[in-house]
Amino acid sequence: MAGKVTLVGAGPGDPGLLTVKGRRALESAEVVVYDRLVGPEVLALIPETARAIDVGKEASRHLIPQEQINDILLREGLAGHNVVRLKGGDPFVFGRGGEELEALARGGVDFEVVPGVTSAIAAAAYGGIPVTHREHSSSFHIITGRAKRGQDPAIDYRALVQGGGTLVFLMSVSAAPKIAEGLLGAGMAPDTPAAMVENGTLPSQRRCDATLETLPRKMAEMGIHSPALLIVGGVCTLGPLLCWFARRPLHGKRVLVTRPKGRAGTLSDRLRDLGAGVWELPCIATEPIAPCPAMEEALRNIRRYQWLAFTSPTGVEVFWNCLRGLGRDARALGGVKLAAIGSATAKALEDCGLTADLVPAVYDGAHLGAALAEQAGGKVLLLRAEIGSPVLTERLEQAGVSYDDIAVYRTHYGSPHSPQLRSALEAGELDYVTFTSASTVKGFAAAAGEGADFSGIVGLCIGEQTAAEARRHGIPVRVAEAATIDALTALACAVSKQDTIDT
Ligand code: SAH
Repeated sequence: MAGKVTLVGAGPGDPGLLTVKGRRALESAEVVVYDRLVGPEVLALIPETARAIDVGKEASRHLIPQEQINDILLREGLAGHNVVRLKGGDPFVFGRGGEELEALARGGVDFEVVPGVTSAIAAAAYGGIPVTHREHSSSFHIITGRAKRGQDPAIDYRALVQGGGTLVFLMSVSAAPKIAEGLLGAGMAPDTPAAMVENGTLPSQRRCDATLETLPRKMAEMGIHSPALLIVGGVCTLGPLLCWFARRPLHGKRVLVTRPKGRAGTLSDRLRDLGAGVWELPCIATEPIAPCPAMEEALRNIRRYQWLAFTSPTGVEVFWNCLRGLGRDARALGGVKLAAIGSATAKALEDCGLTADLVPAVYDGAHLGAALAEQAGGKVLLLRAEIGSPVLTERLEQAGVSYDDIAVYRTHYGSPHSPQLRSALEAGELDYVTFTSASTVKGFAAAAGEGADFSGIVGLCIGEQTAAEARRHGIPVRVAEAATIDALTALACAVSKQDTIDT
């Protein structure tokens, strides 16, 4: 069967700026050929089954020549694959997309184009700069600042100055002083507003405000690096007023999320929406104990129990899979009452069509134990982790409530050691680490390795038990007001606000 190449614009970096159509193409790709400027979170969407070819790599300090990239696309297309050619921003804005399609057309390979959100507009927008504005300019021009080796960029400055529109220069970090000189030479006023936006739309975005005259000095002061673009014109004065992106509560903060794979989602998304750069490093993994004869036996005889209690969403998931595996459904539970340690566990029950009859006011083992002790007249079935907190069962024993405590899953501590984490800690590249259980703390400490220095980070802890474990490892901690993701997120914002006041 004939293959096809879909040329997809990945947008400027924020994964939310990849188009719906681009995402769909990516998700069904068999081969993905991608460039240097495609954001890491967009790359994370490449399916595991797809072959990813990085053509943005510098092979012995030379970029892979364009002809070779064309050849790769042709070869993969002719081999019958469904290929996505993924490029930063829009593929036709200084992206050589046209050249690649010409090669495919000549070689007889089918292709489609999914335009992307160009950095020229989006990085400006995230910097608070609208490229046109009735008060300032009625056109905008996108210009490359890249010059042929050893030459000045071939730009008709006179025409640009006469046009009077907003000027956006891509690939302009090293050429910026020359560009400023060229515009001044063509008669543009020295106090014309100018701005550079670096890492636009990414958590690390910075904006450098200047005028044509002060631009080289201001850029040097801030140490602006590629990728960045230069905007020249009256619209740049709006940046400080309209910079919504940099004003978000966690902007510029780098947060490590330690939750197990599959459970990091909500928390990470929440933190990202608030402006944080999020690094997901699953520090624990859970594994169902399967087969689990004790649980099967208990579920077959569920009527022996008055209460069925859960201390984590994972416990609910494992229980539900086991029940379904026995060929049963919710009806098998009959009149058994359901207890959940907190809102996330109650939500996991809700997802199975079950409503928790009891959720303690404070989400921890001690309070769940106390609440059950108060309400239970009959036997309690606990389905939880192999090493569950002893506090819960102690409370039941004190109250003379009989129970069966069945281990239904095991917790493993992520990777034994992560050199990447260690060097991020040493380089001060992390601000906060979220801990949602004592075991995530243990997993994190193990990943950081012996003798790691945690003094530069703040551990954001979901509760007291978790915080106690973090303190044991020498991690400075702050504790959420309640054991919920909402409260943990609110804590991150409060700590960030405090940091801003302190510095
Ligand atoms: N096709 C791309 C541009 C490719 S040229 C697009 O439409 O965006 C590469 C240049 O784009 C970089 O040198 C830089 O000037 C600009 N650029 C790309 N991503 C950027 C980002 N996230 N922030 C600022 N500039 C960016």
